[in-house]
Amino acid sequence: MLNRVHITGGGLAGLSLGIALRRADVPVTLFEAGSYPRHRVCGEFVSGLTVPEWSELGLADVIAKAVRHDDAAWFCRDKIACIVRLPEPALAMSRYDLDAALAGKFCSSGGELRCGDRLSPVPSGEGWVIASGRARGRPRWLGLKAHYHGLDLAAGLEMHLGTSGYAGLARVGNDRVNVCALLKATRAAGGSRHDALPRRLREVGLVALAARLERAEVVSASVTGVTHFNCGWHRKPANELALGDRAAMIAPFTGNGMSMAFQSALAAAPWITAWARGDIGWTSATVAVGAELKRRFRRRMNWAAVLHPLLLNPGSQAVLRGMAGSRLLPFEWLFRRLR
Ligand SMILES: Cc1cc2nc3c(=O)[nH]c(=O)nc-3n(C[C@H](O)[C@H](O)[C@H](O)COP(=O)(O)OP(=O)(O)OC[C@H]3O[C@@H](n4cnc5c(N)ncnc54)[C@H](O)[C@@H]3O)c2cc1C
Repeated sequence: MLNRVHITGGGLAGLSLGIALRRADVPVTLFEAGSYPRHRVCGEFVSGLTVPEWSELGLADVIAKAVRHDDAAWFCRDKIACIVRLPEPALAMSRYDLDAALAGKFCSSGGELRCGDRLSPVPSGEGWVIASGRARGRPRWLGLKAHYHGLDLAAGLEMHLGTSGYAGLARVGNDRVNVCALLKATRAAGGSRHDALPRRLREVGLVALAARLERAEVVSASVTGVTHFNCGWHRKPANELALGDRAAMIAPFTGNGMSMAFQSALAAAPWITAWARGDIGWTSATVAVGAELKRRFRRRMNWAAVLHPLLLNPGSQAVLRGMAGSRLLPFEWLFRRLR
């Protein structure tokens, strides 16, 4: 008889851990505050996972439906700086479809999914995994996203740097482009939810991008926003086993948070399975998972913390634009540091 694992949070980390544990016949109950399908604030492209990792997660069939992008256009204050070939393809899929597909897989593998169940306080300790996403922080950043129809892109992905924020565009299939922005949080200026993205992009100097969005057709139900979060490692009590954003949130420009959520589930699954079989204690599993996450993610977290402020500083933006224009920016080298 195996011990039951309880997971708080049915995002990418929680669901992929649940699926991996079910593959080892571990009984799992997962508590999710929301329901499926639902739109999430996210750039909606995954980059940095290998084919064997997708297979190990049991998600090769899900990700086979993603749109592959091989290039990205970088814009600085509305002017195109360069179009780069991505060192490896980015796989784009709406979170609306991805999270629902994962939830379906978890349930069909025999996992118990309790939607609409927000646990408070979030339990921790023996048998409890916390995958509840971004830990609540100061209202420093605002994340905004929406899907648009009828938007032409200069490449598979577009990245736009503004004065105090940036936006990423990705074609996600079904003639939809996902537009997702990370902006410094300011006092709300009012206005409708429907035109929140173009309004806020104009405030950070992305006037041409805002005008492009206004000419396209927004999918109203997809407009979502988040605030009150910080990037970086999250401090946690010693006996708390945390995965995904709850353990470490990388700056969104890297396009690597989803990969980290999946990889943290992959790293944790063998240790939690060993606990479920009675081979090791919970404290040993927690310590081992924490050490493995540090080992895997330390370098990319450090690089992201250095690069993120540079992307938002006018002086360094000008240098980056000049280097990108004259093809001196070591894009592939930087890309590898963030993976
Ligand atoms: C603006 C922005 C753009 C981004 N763009 C990209 C990108 O292009 N590519 C990329 O790879 N990453 C991107 N990311 C990061 C990526 O979205 C996250 O890293 C990823 O979603 C983390 O997965 P997770 O499972 O840890 O958390 P989440 O996906 O946030 O899931 C957490 C889940 O826990 C649930 N929950 C929370 N509290 C409770 C509770 N008390 N009880 C029950 N359930 C609870 C929530 O409802 C949620 O479903 C972006 C992030 C932001 C903010």
